[in-house]
Amino acid sequence: MAAGLPDLVDSVRLADEAAVLERVYDLGELPRLRESLAEPRGIVRATFAFATLADGHAGAEVWVQASPVLVCQRCIQGFEVALTGSSQVEFASGDAAGSAESEREFFRVENGLVSLRELAEEELLLAIPFAPACSTPLTCGKAPDHTIGDEARDAAGDMRRPFSALQNLLKKT
Ligand SMILES: [Zn+2]
Repeated sequence: MAAGLPDLVDSVRLADEAAVLERVYDLGELPRLRESLAEPRGIVRATFAFATLADGHAGAEVWVQASPVLVCQRCIQGFEVALTGSSQVEFASGDAAGSAESEREFFRVENGLVSLRELAEEELLLAIPFAPACSTPLTCGKAPDHTIGDEARDAAGDMRRPFSALQNLLKKT
């Protein structure tokens, strides 16, 4: 699908040129994503807008769009979900990576070379819900009736809700 297009690109040169690249990958060819997939079908469309950041480092705005078949954490059935994600990424080599102060994501590079496929995969992994659940409790096959309400809210929410529920529980005991 992406035959003929280079995967490893020079992030510094592309940032100088403010280049915008687009790629399409089969989800089945993204090894870290595969364990989240119920079926290895579908594609991800990715756009990379390279830029030199204010601090002089190379970076990129990354957008991804995909409809992977995920495993519902309630009924363990595969279901397709439309996902989009975007991040501002800074390319960092070795020691420069890992400053927790920044809003940006750091993506480690060797000699300024970036794998666009790995970058798209990273962004897509960030876009996948913490506990994916097929959308409608009525069709989510095997969840016991009395838990559907709570679990649906948890599944639709973010990671903070389970922890706040836990805190309430701890206060009571
Ligand atoms: Zn389900």
